[in-house]
Amino acid sequence: MTEQRATLLIVDDQPANIHALAKLLKDDYRIITATSAAKALELAQRTPAPDLILLDILMPDQDGYATCRALKADEATHAIPVIFVTALDQAQDEAKGLQLGAADYISKPFNPAIVRARVHNQVSLKLKTDLLEQIALQDGLTGIPNRRYFDRKLVQEWNRQSRQQQPLSLLMIDIDHFKAYNDHYGHGAGDDCLRRVAQALQQVPNRSADLVARYGGEEFVALLPETDADGAQEVAEAMRAAIHALALAHAYSPVSDHITISLGGSTHQPQRQRPATDAEALKHSADQALYQAKAEGRDQIVWRDLDSTST
Ligand code: GH3
Ligand code: MG
Ligand code: MG
Repeated sequence: MTEQRATLLIVDDQPANIHALAKLLKDDYRIITATSAAKALELAQRTPAPDLILLDILMPDQDGYATCRALKADEATHAIPVIFVTALDQAQDEAKGLQLGAADYISKPFNPAIVRARVHNQVSLKLKTDLLEQIALQDGLTGIPNRRYFDRKLVQEWNRQSRQQQPLSLLMIDIDHFKAYNDHYGHGAGDDCLRRVAQALQQVPNRSADLVARYGGEEFVALLPETDADGAQEVAEAMRAAIHALALAHAYSPVSDHITISLGGSTHQPQRQRPATDAEALKHSADQALYQAKAEGRDQIVWRDLDSTST
């Protein structure tokens, strides 16, 4: 991971208060600021998201409690730690803030050393959590996203694309005769091959929402939002070509003298489909297409209409 300064979002309706906190913290963190709840919520949603939010409680439109509640209710912002910074100093105020999911509570007038220490503690915890999350969602061998990440994204994209009435395409990709490759060239060479294939596949799709993941063993998946069957078949063909272009010798493959892949794909077209299908049905459909590609000789793409698949 590149060493980058963490970003703090300071929220207070009084610019003077923001100024005092920013002065204290600006040498160690990148600071962004908001003088209203609405602006704070907007900034929190942006990418990259702030690593910590310092939140005033008493604000004219929407107070800090309501802002914290909104942050915690939104999937995109709920993991950002919040520290309340407030002149309210009753135990019940503090309890309420913590119950809403705030990480910590600082009373005004504040002590500079305590503010710095509390902010530092929460930021280091957040960065550690981010790192663990990243490791949990990454495939250890190839460095690309893993199945857990893919399954999470599949449901998210399924819901999003269905809401927006946009097509969602899924490709299942499997290396041909990889057992023979491992058996003859050894497991280390097999692992190298998996890394090369993962990198090559990942370079094919070029929209930022496209996702290539290792699904397990020598099987990969690609999730292509807002991509219809024609577009996705082009991506599939480009992937097949990219693996050919790697020209990784495989003298024991009955299909070719180098490594090849088989692909099965399917597309969900919300405006055309009956409502009964779900994300699992799309996966199942692509999987059946892959099975067929294997059966029909490998090194090829088979497309399957989601409607025609029974689950
Ligand atoms: P097909 O063309 O039908 O897909 O045949 P295949 O041999 O590729 O498929 P099969 O499922 O029979 O074998 C998959 C092999 O992939 C088994 C194992 O040797 C290899 N494999 C799975 N995971 C790994 C891995 O992490 N590293 C290495 N080196 N090999 C792996
Ligand atoms: Mg295989
Ligand atoms: Mg397999």
